[in-house]
Amino acid sequence: MISSLLPRLEHVGIAVADAAPVRTLYRRLLGTLPYKVEEVQDQGVATHFIAAGAAKLELLEALHDDSPIARHVARRGEGLHHLAFEVADLAAHMERLREAGFRLLQDEPQPGADGKRIVFLHPKDTHGVLVEFCESQPALPPPTRVAVPGGSLAVYSWGSADRPPLVLLHGAAGSTPTETAVLARALAPHFHIAALDFAGHGASDVFPDDALTADRFVADVQAVLEAFGWPAAHAFGFSMGGYIAAELARRHPDQVERLAVHASNAFWDEALVAQMNARLQPDALPARVQAQLDHVHRDWRLLFDRMRTFVAGLPALSDVADRLQAIQQPTLVTAADQDDLFPLQSALDLHAHLPDSRLGVLPGTRHGIAHVSVPALAELLHAHFLPEAARSFG
Ligand code: ZN
Repeated sequence: MISSLLPRLEHVGIAVADAAPVRTLYRRLLGTLPYKVEEVQDQGVATHFIAAGAAKLELLEALHDDSPIARHVARRGEGLHHLAFEVADLAAHMERLREAGFRLLQDEPQPGADGKRIVFLHPKDTHGVLVEFCESQPALPPPTRVAVPGGSLAVYSWGSADRPPLVLLHGAAGSTPTETAVLARALAPHFHIAALDFAGHGASDVFPDDALTADRFVADVQAVLEAFGWPAAHAFGFSMGGYIAAELARRHPDQVERLAVHASNAFWDEALVAQMNARLQPDALPARVQAQLDHVHRDWRLLFDRMRTFVAGLPALSDVADRLQAIQQPTLVTAADQDDLFPLQSALDLHAHLPDSRLGVLPGTRHGIAHVSVPALAELLHAHFLPEAARSFG
């Protein structure tokens, strides 16, 4: 059934030979620069999005000579490339259009820029103007449940099962939807991704009688690997998730192929514990944040209490350096240069102690994946986990 929403002009695609002068042009015309640049590798195109009222302009710049945009510019010059109409239910509209005799250039919706799924109509059927229909992707796939003793974990999955497996681990008092999902979407074309909510976090069960410990979280990840039938996977962790990914790599080296951590800290002192735990005081949070947390976790006040205990136990790890030295997997350590929780020195220390480590520093002032450029972080992770597939930037 087709939604009552009528197709809405979402964007106008404009083919350009070189985006730089066209960006300048629209800054002069509209007083604004593109709010986002995104590469769509499948199409060989960089898209520059410029806000223009209810719709937007999408400058299309070829990434290489084989790109359809390069061929379009060579044949027809720069200019209008396509009109895109957004619909709520793309599959239903594709059926409607086929029944009406339109030829579609793709049998199935394709991944487009800006989190869209898209399909093009044959321009011979549309009087010379290429027409795209698009729909916004659902923000999150529904989680599956993975059974563990006493309950179950919520696990979100992206990407095709024939891609290399990758687990994504969120931070303390975080969740997949609020932290790692944004990265999963960027990495989904290249990996089969499982992102779990740790016990007591997000949509996973609360397990009120269990202590939340590193042992527990490592076992959570192992349960997910087993449920997905993965003897081993690449592992990425944000903040505390980085600690858990590293512990999994150290304790069970056969289960982690390559490791990456972002905005993670290994060397705790009392001052850092106090700073971390100040963030885990439920009543100190603004009412607006408390209301959000009601939607993120099943019992966030209990979770915060338990995670303060978890954090307070961290400095007891007197053998952190030895633990890090024991990690043999190739590891990527990334950080925001001005992270407001863990100083850049945290990343430098990790990098110095891990035997096979690379370092990536991104501009950013806040502690969170979404506070650095997600495409840039995804690019570093893609190149680290799949070095054979890494593109050259020549
Ligand atoms: Zn488009």
